[in-house]
Amino acid sequence: MQNVIHITDDVGTQIAHIDEGNGVLYIPFDVFNEQEATVEEIRELLSLVIGIAQEKYFSVLELRSSWSKSPNKDDLTKSFKESLRRRTSEQINRDKRDLENAEESIRGYQQKLKRNYDNSIRLRNAIAQGESNANSAETKLISDLDSIVKHDKFEDVTIEGGRIILHTIPLYAYTKENKRYYMGKYSVEVNMDNSDIKFTGDNARRSYWTHKDPHPHVSGRGGTAYLGNVGGTIAELCSQYELYALALVIVDYLENVNIEDIAGRHVQNWDEVNEAGEIIKKGYVNKSASEMNGNEFECDHCGEHEDRDEAYTVYNRFDGEGETHGEELWCGGCTENEATWIEQNDEYVADRIAAEVREYFENEEEN
Ligand SMILES: [Zn+2]
Repeated sequence: MQNVIHITDDVGTQIAHIDEGNGVLYIPFDVFNEQEATVEEIRELLSLVIGIAQEKYFSVLELRSSWSKSPNKDDLTKSFKESLRRRTSEQINRDKRDLENAEESIRGYQQKLKRNYDNSIRLRNAIAQGESNANSAETKLISDLDSIVKHDKFEDVTIEGGRIILHTIPLYAYTKENKRYYMGKYSVEVNMDNSDIKFTGDNARRSYWTHKDPHPHVSGRGGTAYLGNVGGTIAELCSQYELYALALVIVDYLENVNIEDIAGRHVQNWDEVNEAGEIIKKGYVNKSASEMNGNEFECDHCGEHEDRDEAYTVYNRFDGEGETHGEELWCGGCTENEATWIEQNDEYVADRIAAEVREYFENEEEN
C-alpha cells in the first residue's frame, strides 16, 4: 500500500506530496512555464516548498509516533499488538490446561479422600469389633484356665509358647464292666493353632502300639491318640478355644477304655485296682523278657506260659509305609508256625501281614 502525504500551503492549495513508499517528494509545479521568473525566484520557490514539505513531514512523523497526539492509536500499537495477542492466547491456553490438570487432580484427591474416609470407617468398626472379641476371648481363656486348675482331675496347666499343657492328677481308666485300672498322671499338650494333641504319661506300659504306651488308646511313638469319634469334637473345641470343655473331653477320653477294641483290651497291662486304689491284679508290666518274673511269660498269641528264653518279639500290624506296629511277645512255637522273619528290617512279623511287608520292602529295593 502506498502511503502518500499531501502537503498544502496556508490557504489549502496543494503544493506537493510525499510518496513514503518510494521515498520521493513530488512537486507538481511547472517551473519552466513561468517565463518571467528568474532563476533566483524559482530557487526561492523550491526552497519554500521543500521547507513546507519538510516541516509538514516531520509534523506527520511526530504525530504518528506520539501516543498523545496520534489520531490512530491502533496503528501505533499494531506491530506489537499481534505478538501481545499471541502471547496472551498462549498464556490462556496454558492456563486452561493447568486448570484442567488442577481440576483433574482435585477429583483424584477427592476420590482418594473418599476411599480413605470409607476405609477409616470400616477399619474403625473392625478394630472396635476386634477389640471386643479379643477382650471376650481373652476373658474366656483366662476363666477357662482358672476352671481347669480348680477342677479336681487337674493339678495344673502350663503354657509354653502357643502350646497349653494340661497336667492331670493320677487317673483311673474304667471298662464297660466297671473294672478300674490305675493309669497314672498325664500331661496333655494341646496346640490350639492346629488342634494337635500329644499325650505323655508317667505310667507307660507295653501295649498295643509300642512297648511304652501311656494309655491303651495312645501310641508311645509321638504320643498320638487314636481319638476315634471324639476326634471331631476335640478339633472343634480347639478351633473355638473352648479350653475347659476340651479338658473335660480329654479326661473323659482317658478314663474310659473300650475293651471291645483290640488296643483297648491292652488295658490289662496296667494294674487293676479297687475303690481304695489297692492293687487287685498286677498288670502285665512290660511283658518283655527282661521284666518278667521268674522264667516264664504268657505268649500273646496262644496264651500259653512258656520259657522266657523262647520269647520272640513279633509285630502284627503294618502301616504300609515301612513301619511295623503292634509289638507282641510270642512263644517259639507260635513264632515258628505263624510268623515270618523279614530280613530288611530284622523283625518277625505275623504271617497275616508278612506278604504285605515283604512286598513293600522288595518294591523299595527295586526303586
Ligand atoms: Zn504261643
